[in-house]
Amino acid sequence: MSILEIKNVGKRFGGLQALSDVNLSVAENTVHAIIGPNGAGKSTLLNCLVGKLIPDTGSVTFQGQSLLGRKPHEINQMGVSRVFQTPEIFADLTVFENVVIPSLAARDGSFRMNALSAVRGQGDIRATAEAILEDVNMLDKRHMIASSLSRGDKRRLEMAMCLVQNPKLLLLDEPTAGMARADTNNTIDLLKEIKDKRDITMAIIEHDMHVVFSLAERITVLAQGTPLVEETPENIKGHPKVREAYLGE
Ligand code: ADP
Ligand code: MG
Repeated sequence: MSILEIKNVGKRFGGLQALSDVNLSVAENTVHAIIGPNGAGKSTLLNCLVGKLIPDTGSVTFQGQSLLGRKPHEINQMGVSRVFQTPEIFADLTVFENVVIPSLAARDGSFRMNALSAVRGQGDIRATAEAILEDVNMLDKRHMIASSLSRGDKRRLEMAMCLVQNPKLLLLDEPTAGMARADTNNTIDLLKEIKDKRDITMAIIEHDMHVVFSLAERITVLAQGTPLVEETPENIKGHPKVREAYLGE
């Protein structure tokens, strides 16, 4: 069963065809990596999934519903959540408050009542926030101010902020970019833990092959705006087309 279907997607920026004829299907509850050289169109593709860009051609379907023409927040409410390259957290709020805010935003209906019970630490909002913090091993840091967290913990917090919205599909654009090896390995472990604990699908754009091979079940190689190969990690290593795309051989 595929949760995300991308069919014949094309996107042009002026004279540049950034994406052409992209067909890609992401199976439910898998980790699917999208790799490819700089400028291949990876971020453009991701932006077409979250409503930041509208493709010129083709279709994008999530759980059988078209995403095209929907606003980013609508797509988010449908269960698609994006993790940014640099953590977007509320620096001067506590860890707990950071998790409560997206939880409220994800609910429709009586925001004010929810906000009130959250401030008073009542009901399921508190319980949900704490359960998520437990999932990412940050419960003991819930009273800390976010700006004082280590880089790795900021990443964990941002992940918690995504997870509290209960996404079905998590989109990650180079989640380990700029990280030292230890933080990268931490992020790999965190994503594995999340995957084990929840029904969640991940589509991950990543440069670091160590991350890709540690997590991905399927790998799509994008080159010059078009998928070149889709394979399992075992079959992608040494694939002639992949070598060609990366090394120009
Ligand atoms: P990747 O994420 O794989 O490195 P991008 O999707 O960022 O690649 O970019 C694909 C191509 O589209 C690049 O040549 C880039 O310069 C171009 N591009 C991306 N965004 C824009 C934009 N908003 N306007 C014009 N060109 C863009
Ligand atoms: Mg990019």
